[in-house]
Amino acid sequence: MSSESVKTFASLETPGYVGFANLPNQVHRKSVKKGFEFTLMVVGESGLGKSTLVNSLFLTDLYPERIIPDAVEKTNQTVKLDASTVEIEERGVKLRLTVVDTPGYGDAIDNTDSFRAIIQYIDDQFERFLRDESGLNRRNIVDNRIHCCFYFISPFGHGLKPLDIEFMKQLHNKVNIVPVIAKADVLTKKEVLRLKKRVMEEIEGNGIKIYPLPDCDSDEDEDYKEQVRQLKEAVPFAVCGANTLLEVKGKRVRGRLYPWGVVEVENPDHCDFIKLRTMLITHMQDLQEVTQEVHYENYRSERLAKGAPVPPRRQTTITEPDKNSTVSEKDRILQEKEAEIRHMQELLAVMQAQMQQQQP
Ligand code: GDP
Repeated sequence: MSSESVKTFASLETPGYVGFANLPNQVHRKSVKKGFEFTLMVVGESGLGKSTLVNSLFLTDLYPERIIPDAVEKTNQTVKLDASTVEIEERGVKLRLTVVDTPGYGDAIDNTDSFRAIIQYIDDQFERFLRDESGLNRRNIVDNRIHCCFYFISPFGHGLKPLDIEFMKQLHNKVNIVPVIAKADVLTKKEVLRLKKRVMEEIEGNGIKIYPLPDCDSDEDEDYKEQVRQLKEAVPFAVCGANTLLEVKGKRVRGRLYPWGVVEVENPDHCDFIKLRTMLITHMQDLQEVTQEVHYENYRSERLAKGAPVPPRRQTTITEPDKNSTVSEKDRILQEKEAEIRHMQELLAVMQAQMQQQQP
């Protein structure tokens, strides 16, 4: 998979749809026109089905050029981060989705350094945002901060591994962690419940803060309240992924074919895939807000504590300048500078047009 590769997909090719066409309900219309930006990180040992799940979630192939290293290569491998961006469009609504994969995580014999590269990457994105929001072109900042991290837990253990606990502890103040039990189709219903209970006990027992699904307002409609209740109950989501379409009772479904039958990825009786996707889509804005208000603020205050110069805090929602509001002196200077740049760009465009006309 090539780093920072941008591909464009129309999800119309594949049956079904992801569901982000409903995002306009969540945010201002202006963001709809601009499109949504969301960055998801996937962490977990290789082979747990991360790539398969991400492709199933967004109905695209995010990793067309992926090379899987062999065991010898893995021995000394350090964690490397790969960002892949796809632009998906659904019913006129654009989503610029970046998925950051962490190949090599947990692969080395000594994994003490496994999180260092990941922490560095997350911090680098905060730092970039911090610099950008103090720059001139604050209105067009590309937000590459990690809004959500799916942490894949092996279905083969009896709960969390020391590495899982250590990772979550090191990162829970930096990113919204959503734990998922990988390859849930290898477990019976009873085993899934037992593993979920154990994982939650270990998360609580170790003081790990995972992404808290927000409580519903009392005036929210009953269906929504019930949906959120079910989502909360399902954590850690026990998922399975597949990119093959199979025919089941005359219907084309995404599934895994076994000698004894088909595991349907999108069947809520078979796994929590749909719940995970619903959680991600219906809480995309909240995940972004928590990133901004909690994790990014943590980063800013840490920087302050270290005595480094920190640019002034920006409003979360950027709106057109309100004539009635008092614009701060700094904002006024920035606006003047932006206007100056616009003016120079216009002059440049006129000059270029004149030069083209003069050419024979
Ligand atoms: P990654 O290294 O974590 O990205 O894992 P991959 O997505 O490459 O999957 C590794 C292997 O597990 C492949 O052979 C997949 O076909 C298989 N796999 C992926 N998802 C699932 C799943 O949900 N259940 C089962 N049983 N196997 C899966």
